[in-house]
Amino acid sequence: MDKFDCVVVGGGMVGAASALSLAQLGLKIAVIEKSAPKSFIQNQPFDLRVSALSLSSQFLLEQLNAWPQIKQWRACPYRRLSVWEQESAYTEFSASEINEQHLGHIVENRLIQLSLWQQIQHHENIDLFCPESLISFEQNDKQVSVQLSNKTIETKLLIAADGAHSQVRQLANIGTTGWDYQQAAMLINVETELSQQDITWQHFRETGPVAMLPMPGNHASLVWYHAKEEISRLSNLSNPQLQAAILEAFPAKLGNIKVIDKASFPLTRRHANQYQKNRVVLLGDAAHTINPLAGQGVNLGFKDVKALQEVVAKAIGEGKCWHDVEVLAGYEKARRRDNLLMMTAMDMLYTGFSHPSGLIKLFRNTGLFMTNKFPKLKNKALEYACGI
Ligand SMILES: Cc1cc2nc3c(=O)[nH]c(=O)nc-3n(C[C@H](O)[C@H](O)[C@H](O)COP(=O)(O)OP(=O)(O)OC[C@H]3O[C@@H](n4cnc5c(N)ncnc54)[C@H](O)[C@@H]3O)c2cc1C
Repeated sequence: MDKFDCVVVGGGMVGAASALSLAQLGLKIAVIEKSAPKSFIQNQPFDLRVSALSLSSQFLLEQLNAWPQIKQWRACPYRRLSVWEQESAYTEFSASEINEQHLGHIVENRLIQLSLWQQIQHHENIDLFCPESLISFEQNDKQVSVQLSNKTIETKLLIAADGAHSQVRQLANIGTTGWDYQQAAMLINVETELSQQDITWQHFRETGPVAMLPMPGNHASLVWYHAKEEISRLSNLSNPQLQAAILEAFPAKLGNIKVIDKASFPLTRRHANQYQKNRVVLLGDAAHTINPLAGQGVNLGFKDVKALQEVVAKAIGEGKCWHDVEVLAGYEKARRRDNLLMMTAMDMLYTGFSHPSGLIKLFRNTGLFMTNKFPKLKNKALEYACGI
C-alpha cells in the first residue's frame, strides 16, 4: 500500500499550494483531484472566475516558484483601489502610500492552479492522482487510511482543501456555522472602450455594490451584487440586454462595454467549528467561505497554507512530531482569529452599506470621508487588505 506523510484532497489553488509548501519541507505528499484544469492557450478567452491576489499571496506564489509563469501568461497589476457611495466621500488608496509598486493582481483562478500544477508535476516528493475522488477514510492513533475509487493509500495527515462543500469536513464530522446571504453576485467579463487597467473600483449602491476588476488589455471583470431574484432576472437577459442594464446601473466612469460572458453565484458565509480533528486539517474554503465583497477568499486560504507550513517547519526544526495534535492546534490558533476577523469585517461592510437609513448612510459616508483625512488610518487599512 502506498504511504504518504500528507494526503491533500482537492488540487485547487489552496490544495496545490499546500502540497508544494509541505513538499518543500521534505514531506512525501499525495494530491487527490477530481478534474484537471484546462491548459492555457495564448489568446483563449478570459475565465469568469478571477481573484484579486494580495501582495502576501504573491509572495507565497513566488516562494513556490509559481509566480513567474502566472506573470508570463496573464495577470493585471493594479496600483489604485477606490471605493465610494456618494461622490463627496470618494476614497482612493494608492500603492505609493505604502511604498509598494502595486496593491495586487487580478488573475484567473485556473491560471493560478495551472502554474502550481506545473511545479507539482516536476516535484519528486509529490504524487498527483487525477482524475481521482475520495470515497471514504478511517482514522486511528497512528494514521489515516484513505479509500480512493480504485486503491487505498495511507497517510499521517489528511488535508481537506476540497472547497466550500468539503466532503472531508463532513466525513470527519466537523460542523460549521454560517448562513446564506439574501444577495447573489453576478460575474461578467466585458471588453471596455476605456483603458483603466491600473485601478480596481467598487461603488456601493443601496441594492448592493458594483465593482470593476481590470483584466489585461481592454478587458474587465465586473461584479454586480443584487437581490437573488434580480440576479436571476439579469442572468436570463441576452448579452446586448445585459449590456444596456450595466450601462444604466454602473457608474459612468466604466465607459462603453461589450458583454462577453456571465455567470452568477450565491453568497454564503460558513466557518468550520474546528480546523483540525483526529489527523484531519482543513484549509481554504473547506474551513471558511467569506462574502467576496473585498476579494479576500483565496487570500485567506493562502494565509492558511503559509501558517500550516510554518508550524510544521518549526516542529521539524525542533525535532518534534510534526503531525502531533499540539502542532496542528498551533495552526488553528494562528488562523481562526484572523479568518473570523476578516469575515466579520466583510459582514460589517456588507450590512453597513446595505442599510437604507439616512442616518447610517451619513455615518458610512462620513467614515469614508474621514478615512481620506487620516493617512495613518488609511495606510493601516490598506496594509491589512494587502496582507502585509
Ligand atoms: C463570486 C465570487 C467571487 C470571488 N472573488 C474572489 C476574489 O476576487 N479574490 C479572492 O481571493 N477570492 C475570491 N473568491 C473566493 C475564492 O474563489 C475561493 O476562496 C477559492 O476558490 C477557494 O479555493 P480552494 O482551493 O480552497 O477551493 P476550490 O477552489 O473550491 O477548490 C477545491 C478543489 O477540490 C476539488 N474537489 C472537491 N471535492 C473533491 C473530492 N471529493 N475529491 C477530489 N477533489 C475534490 C475540486 O475539484 C476543486 O479543484 C470569490 C468567490 C466567489 C463566489
